[in-house]
Amino acid sequence: MHLFTTVFLSFVAASVLVRLWLSQRQISHISAHYDAVPEAFADKISLQDHHRAADYSCTRLRFGRLTLGWETLWLLIWTMGGGINVIDQWWLGFEYPGMVTGIAVILSLTLLSAILGLPFSLYQTFVIEERFGFNKTTLKTWLLDLVKTAMLLLLLGAPLLAAILWLMNRAGDLWWIYAWLLWMGFSLVMIWAYPVFIAPLFNKFSPLQDSNLRTRIEDLLTRCGFHSQGVFVVDGSKRSSHGNAYFTGFGRNKRIVFYDTLLETLSEDEVEAVLAHELGHFKRNHIKKSLLLSSAMSLAGFALLAWLMRSDWFYSSLGVDTASTHAALILFMMVMPVFTYFIGPLFSALSRKHEFEADEFAHSNSNYKALISALVNLYRDNASTLTPDPIHSIFYDSHPPATIRINRLETIAGNGSSG
Ligand SMILES: [Zn+2]
Repeated sequence: MHLFTTVFLSFVAASVLVRLWLSQRQISHISAHYDAVPEAFADKISLQDHHRAADYSCTRLRFGRLTLGWETLWLLIWTMGGGINVIDQWWLGFEYPGMVTGIAVILSLTLLSAILGLPFSLYQTFVIEERFGFNKTTLKTWLLDLVKTAMLLLLLGAPLLAAILWLMNRAGDLWWIYAWLLWMGFSLVMIWAYPVFIAPLFNKFSPLQDSNLRTRIEDLLTRCGFHSQGVFVVDGSKRSSHGNAYFTGFGRNKRIVFYDTLLETLSEDEVEAVLAHELGHFKRNHIKKSLLLSSAMSLAGFALLAWLMRSDWFYSSLGVDTASTHAALILFMMVMPVFTYFIGPLFSALSRKHEFEADEFAHSNSNYKALISALVNLYRDNASTLTPDPIHSIFYDSHPPATIRINRLETIAGNGSSG
């Protein structure tokens, strides 16, 4: 067996084992705390809500194992099992120009992978989310989303793919720098265009109507020196009763978006505090930092791909007979996540650090008690567990666990308890 085959299979095995172990830890931890609401939340969350959060979390974790098994099986079929090779050889047989073959092979694989994932996506939405009362999507909306996403991928993704393949073939030894510049340019245009041109294809965005709340929000924006297109409400309730607030776009296009589901459950004070938290992400430069980090990561990725593309073992050790730029690109995209899984905790840690900073900002610019009660409401309404396993949390959580986060807010305010 090739050395790299062994390395790849070892990483697949290790990542599957770690995922299963973390999933089991999380289920055990949640089950062990099933009987009582954590003390800090005892007067805010009912036992019934606590049970619902536990059941929802565990159902999703168990389903996640099934998905993991299915995805791992197909990763092995595509690579070691020769799946990519079969599709590649089939298209090569037509003797189309290299670029056409490359695009055809990548599109075929993307389509097949999407079809293989559909039953899981359907089950997640129409069985799990439905059972816990979150699903508001109709099959029609779901299908329309699918068609729109596919069209966007074809219209925007296919030309980008063609340009990258062209650079890989024609731009010489430094192609990876040009490809990276193209990729960054594309990403920036997409971030800029997303709120105005793409998101409205899926949802309706309307300026916040409530004039009282609007005035308070505008005051807060002015106080924090934030210039934007303003605050919008999105009809998230069309698909799901999960609520959220987020920040999108950049330059003059940037917006703050509230889910209608969130506005229904939060008081004015709470909305203002959540908004202050979102502004904290902006004011502490989290968006710029994340962008810089991902651009550095993608540069490293392209450099690595440039090296792998010239290495014969990369193809043969992963079940592909004919070396080509498109095969290198496919293998790279398929195999990389197995390795990058292990640096995930670093990104989770950075994200949690940013959440703390945004909370601190919210504390200085709004009512921290309102932020705490907003958080509790969000945990309750989204059925998020209040008792996550600490190691599972270190690995995956982009937001600090509820208890730690609220405790930290109390501490900054000077009335925190230790522990
Ligand atoms: Zn945040």
